[in-house]
Amino acid sequence: MSQSPLPRKRPGFPADVPIGGSVSSPARARPATSAQHHVPVGWGLDSDAVRQRMVQRLAAGGIQSQAVLTAMGQVPRHHFVDSALASQAYEDTSLPIGLQQTISKPSVVARMIELLLGASAVAEQGLGRVLEIGTGCGYQAAVLSCLARQVYSIERLRGLHEKARVNLRPLRLMNVHLILGDGMKGYPQGGPYAGIISAAGGQSIPHAWLEQLAIGARLVAPTEHTNGQQVLRVIERTAQGFVEDILEAVHFVPLKSGVA
Ligand code: SAH
Repeated sequence: MSQSPLPRKRPGFPADVPIGGSVSSPARARPATSAQHHVPVGWGLDSDAVRQRMVQRLAAGGIQSQAVLTAMGQVPRHHFVDSALASQAYEDTSLPIGLQQTISKPSVVARMIELLLGASAVAEQGLGRVLEIGTGCGYQAAVLSCLARQVYSIERLRGLHEKARVNLRPLRLMNVHLILGDGMKGYPQGGPYAGIISAAGGQSIPHAWLEQLAIGARLVAPTEHTNGQQVLRVIERTAQGFVEDILEAVHFVPLKSGVA
């Protein structure tokens, strides 16, 4: 399969189409009508320059998708970490978010989303519904919301699910749906997905994720490799079956089952 992460076409932003299910939307007050309204003007303007420098470093580091770079430039990462860590928010580093979990490095978030956008169906139709496993503080869900029509983000730790809801509320992202649950089972109510992205790494890819992947869509997830090292795995579902690529070594928190 092609390793080119570049989408041939920028994903579109159709109107919000709510889908049923036991999901909680972080904000209900005002409907977003276009991608431009996803991140309200005035949010994090003080950090704009430092965030744009982060975007420049992402581009210099190999991120080619303009859509991804634009999304990374829109989301105020410093609002997703403790105020004591806010000064480090635009460095390329993972940071603690509580309950022994971490927010991924910006370069890893951008890389994984770029890989997701490289799916054949995305090139043709834009990025439709996306499932994120591991909401954490909600940062990656916010980035995804700029690129996908709907984002279903599932978290197993109640404390972080609630924290993400608080962090996301001011952004009024009407296309982000937060779910408290065991992401190892996926979230069939939102599927089939145009993309599945996991922020936690297990020993193997849960079967449910493959079942919930649409044809032409990609799954991007860290998993354990034969040598015990964690690697980034990209699986694209084609009409003929699943095509897998093993990419670079990564370091993610463990994928665990059950809700806590
Ligand atoms: N995308 C997040 C990164 C969070 S770290 C962010 O932007 O902040 C990964 C998260 O995956 C952790 O919060 C962890 O609790 C969660 N996780 C691990 N196993 C899970 C599972 N089976 N279902 C849902 N979430 C899971």
